[in-house]
Amino acid sequence: MFAVYEFITTRNEKLLLMMNKYTYWQAQPTKNYRTYYCSKQSSGCKAKIKLNNYGTVIKADESHTHLPPKYIKTASGYMKV
Ligand SMILES: [Zn+2]
Repeated sequence: MFAVYEFITTRNEKLLLMMNKYTYWQAQPTKNYRTYYCSKQSSGCKAKIKLNNYGTVIKADESHTHLPPKYIKTASGYMKV
């Protein structure tokens, strides 16, 4: 699966994974995988990204129930607008 993502640091120093404009937070990693849940999971969005330990996307569920959040890049990190 071809997928491009990046890690961003927000101004309150949270590390988020950003893919296709959507952001995800990292759940507790397991031995072989790291799962990232949509930042709007609390609003009922079930989108999630699964990476292996090499950072390769092995599963991407991007069925978001909302529009992507808007972030702008500042000198001190990304800021949600
Ligand atoms: Zn979502």
